[in-house]
Amino acid sequence: MYEKASIVPVFLQGKLVNYIALKLDITEYIEKNKQLAQAASVFENTEEAIIITDAQGKLISINSAFTTIYGYSLHEVKGKSLEFLHSGIQDKSFYKNLWNQLVEHGIWKGKLINKTKDGELIPLWSTIKKITNSKGDVVNYTAVQTDLREIETSQAKADYLAYHDSLTGLANRINFEEYLQHALVISKREKAILAVLFIDLDRFKVINDTLGHDIGDEVLKIVASRLQNTLRESDFISRWGGDEFVVILENLASSDDAAVAALKIIQNLQKPLYINKHTLLTTASIGIALYPQNGEDSQTLIKHADSAMYLAKESGKNNFRFYTKELSQNIRHKLNIDMALRNALKNNEFTMLFQPQYLLTTKKIYSAEALIRWHSPLLGTVPPDKFIPIAEENGVITELGYFVFEESCKALKQIQQADIFMQHIAVNVSSLQFKEANLLKNFLDIANKHNVKPSEIEIEITERFIMEHTQANMNILHSFRDHGFKISIDDFGTGYSSMSYLKQLPADTIKIDKSFVDDIVQGSSDNVIIEAIIALSKTLGYMIVAEGIETQKQEEFLTQANCDLGQGYLFSRPVTCKEIIEKFSKG
Ligand code: C2E
Ligand code: CA
Ligand code: CA
Repeated sequence: MYEKASIVPVFLQGKLVNYIALKLDITEYIEKNKQLAQAASVFENTEEAIIITDAQGKLISINSAFTTIYGYSLHEVKGKSLEFLHSGIQDKSFYKNLWNQLVEHGIWKGKLINKTKDGELIPLWSTIKKITNSKGDVVNYTAVQTDLREIETSQAKADYLAYHDSLTGLANRINFEEYLQHALVISKREKAILAVLFIDLDRFKVINDTLGHDIGDEVLKIVASRLQNTLRESDFISRWGGDEFVVILENLASSDDAAVAALKIIQNLQKPLYINKHTLLTTASIGIALYPQNGEDSQTLIKHADSAMYLAKESGKNNFRFYTKELSQNIRHKLNIDMALRNALKNNEFTMLFQPQYLLTTKKIYSAEALIRWHSPLLGTVPPDKFIPIAEENGVITELGYFVFEESCKALKQIQQADIFMQHIAVNVSSLQFKEANLLKNFLDIANKHNVKPSEIEIEITERFIMEHTQANMNILHSFRDHGFKISIDDFGTGYSSMSYLKQLPADTIKIDKSFVDDIVQGSSDNVIIEAIIALSKTLGYMIVAEGIETQKQEEFLTQANCDLGQGYLFSRPVTCKEIIEKFSKG
């Protein structure tokens, strides 16, 4: 305990007789003082701004954090009521509520937007308390305020990262889905047309594979900024993943607006890209789904935009397709083909054509690719691109495949008997055919029957087969090769086949897809890619065929790039076996 004491001596006739001590217990006082000192130190050292006002709300005291946050010193603000801190963002009724709460409950907590001495608006988390004495009269108000600026920026950063694609800065998929749901609510209320555009780059993968991820990243960044420059500020652009982008267009007057936007995107994206001294081409295929015609919810719209995008790819890439009529018409047409296909073989509706492949150095015929033709009395001439996928679905491909194989063997024999050199004949075999357990044995039997050696047959496999890069498929390819068949990889460089597979594939030939050959114009654009494919394939010991050569320029370029074989309209269209014999017989 602490005491305050006065001790007084008592003298009686000059003689000290007593002492009187007056003692005051001051323990409580000392403790209070200690607490006050502590409180003062907390008051001064805390990072929260503290404001104390009198009962009228006039400022009495502030701490140094207040000065740091707001920029005012005590003498500048003492005696003022707190309105000078108001930013004007929060209106009269806001402060009225605050005071009501404070008066009624003695405390108010919430976020304030206040103004500093410099005029900066800052967010603060505030706790305001009413201090009363023992009689219940208000003596003070205190406010403790936490500066939220830093917290809000780091929160904003975290939000940004969660909702944006870090490479391109575009909105990401989560952001897209939330935005679309919201946009659909608004479109519904305002009876407006909305479009979802699914954009897929046509040749991104091969650029990535041949030139590396850094260049691939650059391509994506440029594509993102081109999209931003092409579209309006109000259009929503997001990266869906990989080389896929999705755009939302709102408040359209008609579906034509979506078509115009899609066309603009296509035109802007097909301009060459200049990256690290490379001149690259990427085109885009776009699928469009419209609200409300094609769907009312986000999932349906995305799904339909996606399938419309596939239609755009199927119909030659570098274009756009609406989900609507075309796709449903397509489905009806597919059903007709499906029905007609089932009887086509036994009605002898198929014929075979053969397209010469020639040595680019000598321009002499070297081999030929067998290509099927179907003339249906019901549907007219249906191109193989249209019916082969359906034959794969309904299973007709198996029988059809044997027909193609047998006709090819017959043709090879006839051509050789006409004394025309033909190393082999290339036969397209669908990945579905490999599902047949006896395919190899049946092929061997058919070849044998026509006196054709397996090495005189080159099997062209589709990309799908490579994509389903399973051990089982690899084993199948090995077993065909073990029996002497040659294997060729068709349409190399388009969708799925990847340069990285090249090393492991049991193959003899790589066929560079026509789309690359198309781009050889005036020695620009995709030449680096073709050169890279040829160089790598050569290193790995493959024979290289370029297909779809239509011009002299293309032929010249491919010849000087060391491509082995050419195939295309320039040299010859697909023709009948008889025509080959007529055209290439010596003399
Ligand atoms: P593919 O195997 O890539 O065949 C090459 C296609 O390009 C052929 O079209 C051919 O006629 C065409 N072509 C060749 N040179 C040129 C050119 O210079 N310019 C242009 N514009 N085109 C050229 P086709 O015959 O319509 O065949 C299309 C696809 O159908 C083939 O693509 C192949 O995937 C499939 N197909 C064709 N015949 C068969 C077959 O007997 N069996 C299987 N499974 N699929 C086949
Ligand atoms: Ca082919
Ligand atoms: Ca091809």
